[in-house]
Formats: sequence, structure tokens, C-alpha cells
Amino acid sequence: MLPYQSLAEAEASIGRNLSAAENLWFWYSASMPDYILYYHNIAFLFLIFTLVPLPIAAAEILFPSALSPLKLQPKVRLPLSSFLKCYKDVFCVFFFVVGPLQLLSYPTIKMVGIRTGLPLPSPWEVGLQLLVYFLVEDYGNYWIHRAMHSQWGYEKIHHVHHEFTAPIGFAAPYAHWAEVLILGIPSFVGPALVPGHMITFWLWIALRQIEAIETHSGYDFPFSPTKLIPFYGGPEYHDYHHYVGGQSQSNFASVFTYCDYIYGTDKGYRYQKAHLAKLREQWKSDDQNGTDTSNLNGKLE
Ligand SMILES: [Zn+2]
Ligand SMILES: [Zn+2]
Repeated sequence: MLPYQSLAEAEASIGRNLSAAENLWFWYSASMPDYILYYHNIAFLFLIFTLVPLPIAAAEILFPSALSPLKLQPKVRLPLSSFLKCYKDVFCVFFFVVGPLQLLSYPTIKMVGIRTGLPLPSPWEVGLQLLVYFLVEDYGNYWIHRAMHSQWGYEKIHHVHHEFTAPIGFAAPYAHWAEVLILGIPSFVGPALVPGHMITFWLWIALRQIEAIETHSGYDFPFSPTKLIPFYGGPEYHDYHHYVGGQSQSNFASVFTYCDYIYGTDKGYRYQKAHLAKLREQWKSDDQNGTDTSNLNGKLE
């Protein structure tokens, strides 16, 4: 809720005219309690989880061969019932775990100093804070995920997330409720260290979720804008982790590749990639020489 009765009062307090975005924010949030603004995250999380994976899932079910060339594990075809079960199970975790966690965490958000007032942060401030949030969360997530691959962690908790050896977008948050709770912690560390505006916090939660859905999509789109991000893992990187499954000691990081590189946990993946690249070269030259390579495929199968 903003401490101003009118636009004029807000402008007098800031000492300048409000920008178009600030006008919009004033109009939307002036009389809305801060906890309601924070609880918007519950709706955003649910809407993004429902809508973002939908186009690829629909295309995969309705026109399975159309996207096949971009599918990372093209021989895996999940029935509609698997998509529906995944959606239902994640919905339950949202309803019973994520939602209540959001409701209960409001005092923490207030305590660390996430603000809702004016002026709005500059795009630079938002961008730098988001970068910190992504880096901090990625580092924390790496070690938690690595610990989950211990025998105890995997058998008791993490095996649920690995039920999908060929992941789909809806399976990004598909996990044991305890894993959802534990992995929620590093998401709050960045905003606690560098608290920003509520809009930055909304963006953080939304972008992180969209990133996880892309990473679990099962498809590697060559035109994805995320390919421009330095040290970004992406779908192929995380798909390998799911493909190898419970025994995987490779590709633990959720967003970037630097942790796996520094701590040497990307060796299996790099070996596999180099091996496939060599095979592709071999197939290309066999093709040129007229050798039959029709039963070979460069993707994981
Ligand atoms: Zn794992
Ligand atoms: Zn995963």
C-alpha cells in the first residue's frame, strides 16, 4: 500500500513527475495491502506452470512427428495420461506446499526489506539484482541437488523428480514435497542478500520458473533466446542428467554450467557430447561416401 493519497502527493514526495510505469503502479497498488501484492506470486506460479508448457505438450500429443527433429530423446513418446498425471500431482504440491509456503513467508519478505513503493527501480537495478538472484540460487541449488544424489537423498526424496527419464515442461516442478520445500530456500537467499522492489521479486519467481520449464521441455530449439546467455545450461544439458537417471553424477546445476565445470561434475556429459560429435562427423563422411547410416541418430535414444 502506498503512503500517498493522490498522484500529486506521490510526485511531490519523489520530486519529479512519475513515469508511465510508475503511474500504472500507483493506479494498481496505491490501496492494495503489501501482503496481497506478495501473494500475487501464487497466481503467477500457477498460471505460468499451466500455460507455458502447454503449447509444446499439445504439439507433442497432437502432431508428434512435427517436432521430432528437435526432440532430445525422439524415441520416447509419453501418452496423454502421463501428462495429465504429472499436471495433477504438481497441482497437489502447489496447493498443499507451494501456496502455504508463500502465505507463511510474507513476514520474511517484509523483514528483509522487499519494498512496494515509489520510485520504481531502473531497468539496470532490476537486471543486476536478477543476475545476483540467479547466481546465488544456482550455486545453492547445485550443492543441494548434488546432496540429493547421495544414496539416502535419492532413495528418500529425489527419485520422484527422476521418474521422468525424458522430461517434459510440466515435470519441471514434479518432485517430492520435501524437495520443493528445500529447493525453495536458495530462491529466497538472493532477495534476502540484495532486497529489491516487489516487481523485481515477481520477475525473479516468474523467470526462474519459465527457465525450469524450458530446461525440462525435452526439446532443444535453435532459436531460443536463452542460447545467447553465457554459461547457460539449457534443455540439452539437463536432459542428459535425467537421461542418465539415479546414477547420474553429472550436470547438477539448474541454470548455468560453471558450477559443474569448476567442480568437475560435467565430465560424463562432455565425454558424451564429444563422442556424439565424432560420430556425427563419421556419419557425414560415410554419407558422402554413400554408406547407409539411416539407422543412426545423433540424439540420445
Ligand atoms: Zn537429479
Ligand atoms: Zn530436472
